Amino acid sequence: MKIWICPGSFDPVTMGHIDIIKRASRMCDHLIVAVGVNDGKKATFTLEERRQFILKSVKGLKNVEVDVFEGLLINYAENKGATAIVKGLRAVSDFEYELQMALLNKRLNEKIETVFLMTSINYSYLSSRAIKNIASNGGEIRGLVPDSIHDDIYEKLKEGEIK
Ligand code: ADP
Repeated sequence: MKIWICPGSFDPVTMGHIDIIKRASRMCDHLIVAVGVNDGKKATFTLEERRQFILKSVKGLKNVEVDVFEGLLINYAENKGATAIVKGLRAVSDFEYELQMALLNKRLNEKIETVFLMTSINYSYLSSRAIKNIASNGGEIRGLVPDSIHDDIYEKLKEGEIK
């Protein structure tokens, strides 16, 4: 069985991520969307909130599982029996970082490949940070995130302000 991992911080998941998840799920038997703890990025939503957002968004996709992981992605991928890590590429600015990660991961485990899918033109400008900026300043994010989590995002952002 061909198992692939689609890792990210998904803070929150956007239509850009969902596009990559859908396309990758058609290229493997089982896709694990893995929400990671990224030391370099302070998350707005908790791991559980981010996991729930993705779960709600991928309901129709039968071969997609949602999980969270800590520590090294490559170790997680190996433990899951994955043969590839799949990532989306938006712009040249993504490339440098992703090339470094892919080469490091290859060095750590030569059996696991990193596969890149180019962003769809409609979503190339989308990022989680942009979504949070728009939503927390009263802007409209419909169409940029899955409809099923649109209201939840505003709600959770509001709760965060009160905390
Ligand atoms: P972000 O950069 O939005 O915080 P993540 O760290 O969650 O995203 O990214 C997970 C993966 O999804 C990365 O490979 C990233 O390049 C990819 N990705 C994020 N947004 C898009 C998009 N709009 N189109 C294609 N890929 C994307």
